[in-house]
Amino acid sequence: MQETTVFCYRVSLSSTEWAKASDARRAAGDLWTRLVKIHRFCRRRHWRWPTEAQLKAHFKRRFPLHSQTVQALIEKFCATIDGVRTKRKHGDKQARYPWRFRRYFNPIFKGQALKMAGPHLLLPRGRGRDPIRAHLPELPDGQVVQAELGFGEIYLTVAREMPDPGPVSSSKAGGLDIGVIHLGMVSDGDEALAVSGRGLRSVKQGRAKAQAKLRKKRRRTKPGSRRRKRLNRARHRASHKVERVMRNALHHAANQIVAFCLAYGITILYAGDLGTLNYKTRHRRSRRTNQDIGALEFGRFEQYLEYKLRRYGIQLVQISEAYTSQTCPQCGHLTKMAGRTYRCRACGYRAHRDGVGAVNILNKGMHGEIRPGALLVPPRITYRRPVPLKGTLRRSCG
Ligand SMILES: [Zn+2]
Repeated sequence: MQETTVFCYRVSLSSTEWAKASDARRAAGDLWTRLVKIHRFCRRRHWRWPTEAQLKAHFKRRFPLHSQTVQALIEKFCATIDGVRTKRKHGDKQARYPWRFRRYFNPIFKGQALKMAGPHLLLPRGRGRDPIRAHLPELPDGQVVQAELGFGEIYLTVAREMPDPGPVSSSKAGGLDIGVIHLGMVSDGDEALAVSGRGLRSVKQGRAKAQAKLRKKRRRTKPGSRRRKRLNRARHRASHKVERVMRNALHHAANQIVAFCLAYGITILYAGDLGTLNYKTRHRRSRRTNQDIGALEFGRFEQYLEYKLRRYGIQLVQISEAYTSQTCPQCGHLTKMAGRTYRCRACGYRAHRDGVGAVNILNKGMHGEIRPGALLVPPRITYRRPVPLKGTLRRSCG
């Protein structure tokens, strides 16, 4: 089974390498902005959007980038356009074509053009220009398909041969409820595991506060001044750190859910369909919920889960989570709950709210509907944090 994984490396570049990297990122931004402008121009006039080949021929050797980098960026832009077009065709009016002009954009380097010189990865910038030399501590096993250069970071896409999980002998289902207080609550009907989301939320709130503080300071500085530059750097540093803490926590949380599935022999995991949830709640979102772990993190969490589960032959199936948090697992009565405990108004059934969500999703996944009395919240729920709250996490909360 072939699998592609993206590895993220933080790289520290010398000032000359940093300048080269900035040039490449700026050139990529220029190209992206040109594409956005052309697209907008064509759309306004109802003209046919040029083909990928036409664009590639047009932009050949016009930017200080490797020819394959230019091609890769055009491919990326065209793929985005196609994606949005299909979404709009299927009735998603919120889907928006790329519209933002970008000063910087991450250039993409194709695998064939990449070279190693000792511990350095060489990112080509086209004929007549020095490649960018980035020191990488170690390369992952497998074949590097692509590299993307970010702000002080390099993302390597690596194709690897993974051992086949083998045929699945039995079939047992589990239910997963994704939420804010508990990032994930998973249950097979007998046991349940709750992975806390509180740490993540506090990191995010901390970021919002710290950003507001920096913005206020920044307002009192002159454009282009040393002080402003310093504050800009501080802001980027802080947000990158939060991003890393988040990513790490999401990976750990996903691993804990996978471990639960393996321990209890779950081969198919039902999860709520987050797409519909976002669509419905988008309009009546308060400031507070916007600050919570957003749709972005949930989507990422599911992505991580999906590929981690696939490695063990476990299937992640999304089902509509309509009414799964309101329906009483015992009698089927609908009660809207605000608190953390579910209390049924009809039969008096009491249980943990996220637990109700998890068993109802499992119930619905197995039977196609929530069958009253078929599955109740397990009496014992194990609580876990995705990562221990250490100094790093607290410090970044500012
Ligand atoms: Zn009830």
